[in-house]
Amino acid sequence: MPSDSLFCKIVAGEIPAELVYESDTAVAFRDINPQAPTHVLVIPRKHISTINDVTPSDEAIVGSLYTAAKEIAASEGIADDGYRAVMNCNEGAGQSVFHIHLHVLGGRPMNWPPG
Ligand SMILES: [Zn+2]
Repeated sequence: MPSDSLFCKIVAGEIPAELVYESDTAVAFRDINPQAPTHVLVIPRKHISTINDVTPSDEAIVGSLYTAAKEIAASEGIADDGYRAVMNCNEGAGQSVFHIHLHVLGGRPMNWPPG
């Protein structure tokens, strides 16, 4: 199902992005407005608008975002100190691009509860 979301254009190479991770199902790049020393977005190659649109057939794809997060955390040197992997759903939670993306944040202390 084609989509013209910003992140689909990155997946398609129509908008350049420096990828820090690539797999068959996911790609990752740095957030343009970083909220921590490490702030990487992991997105599925497949267009899925929000968590509310995830179906059982997407489970392997969504799971692969966490495999990516683990590898990115290791390569960024934040795996042992700790990091956050969080996905926002809809505007009320702060989602601004409607193509799901896992935020991988680290390099500073993380508070709980998040704001
Ligand atoms: Zn998309």
